[in-house]
Amino acid sequence: MTDFSSRLIVWQKQHGRHDLPWQNTTDPYAIWVSEIMLQQTQVTAVIGYYSKFMQRFPTIAALADATQDEVLQHWSGLGYYSRARNLHNAAQTIMDEHGGVFPQDFATIQALPGIGRSTAAAIASFAFNQVQTILDGNVKRVLARHFAVEGWPGTPKIEKELWSLAESLLPKTEMVAYTQGLMDLGATLCSRSRPQCLNCPLLASCQAYRQQRVNQLPTPKPRKATPEKHTIMLILLQGDSVMLEKRPPSGIWGGLWSFPELEQGSDYTDIVQQRFGMSVCPQKALPELSHAFTHFKLHITPQPLQVNGPLAKTGEPGQVWLSIADALGAAIPTPVRKILQTLLIEGT
Ligand code: SF4
Repeated sequence: MTDFSSRLIVWQKQHGRHDLPWQNTTDPYAIWVSEIMLQQTQVTAVIGYYSKFMQRFPTIAALADATQDEVLQHWSGLGYYSRARNLHNAAQTIMDEHGGVFPQDFATIQALPGIGRSTAAAIASFAFNQVQTILDGNVKRVLARHFAVEGWPGTPKIEKELWSLAESLLPKTEMVAYTQGLMDLGATLCSRSRPQCLNCPLLASCQAYRQQRVNQLPTPKPRKATPEKHTIMLILLQGDSVMLEKRPPSGIWGGLWSFPELEQGSDYTDIVQQRFGMSVCPQKALPELSHAFTHFKLHITPQPLQVNGPLAKTGEPGQVWLSIADALGAAIPTPVRKILQTLLIEGT
């Protein structure tokens, strides 16, 4: 065992995290759900979602049997919704192709929708005690600092170098404590900003610390201006009901319920008449809000429109009229939730 791994294991046992809701189990389903939720999301945000999700979908079979809409509803607000769609698809694959039993073979785990190499390794280590290498964002940061690896870890060359390093450090035993230790160190002491090096079990051998370059590593992503996009969200209102449309199954907010959208500068009263056969009376626009995606920033102008007269094209597939309170309980993205909450507060 390397000095790196033995010190990490000792530290994890004494100071690491031991009581998270998805720990102290070897149930691969429970571990898998947690690993998917923890991709791109902080532990504190995941805890509440995880408990509710596991209550509603306690087994692979229960998840596979649910509708995609219900799965998305339990993911609503967590973001990165392709994770939920893949989780649901993978549960169905496990039922259809693996007799409802989570596979143990590493390549088979990795072939499931939404499970990359690092996630497959975390599941295989925690559930089946296999010796496998994880390399998520936190682990990349620990390794890049400890071994003073130059270059942005997002490039294939640096990523390959980090995978080789991570593989060379693997212990042959104590995989659970080691894998958890890497995750814990990256999430707690070796955090992105203000790392607590003086408490770190790897301090004596840390190159970044020795070279006083902890704040410079890992090398940040080369800066590029984030593209900005603008959209108008049409909030069609009748009485206390609001219309939501189901978005296409893939892409941004795929499969979620949202407001119809128009490009800025469009004449929405004409377009609403053509698209929905409704005559509408515009209300005062709500304050603009912005939402950051990985690759762009979206500026949203929420435009309430009161529908005049009978609804000519209601009940079309993929459209629902819901009370604002019911709409808040649907599978909706965060900006739609914020707009609905504003409507509720303003008593529209
Ligand atoms: S000494 Fe500091 S920079 Fe190095 S691994 Fe530990 S916390 Fe990270």
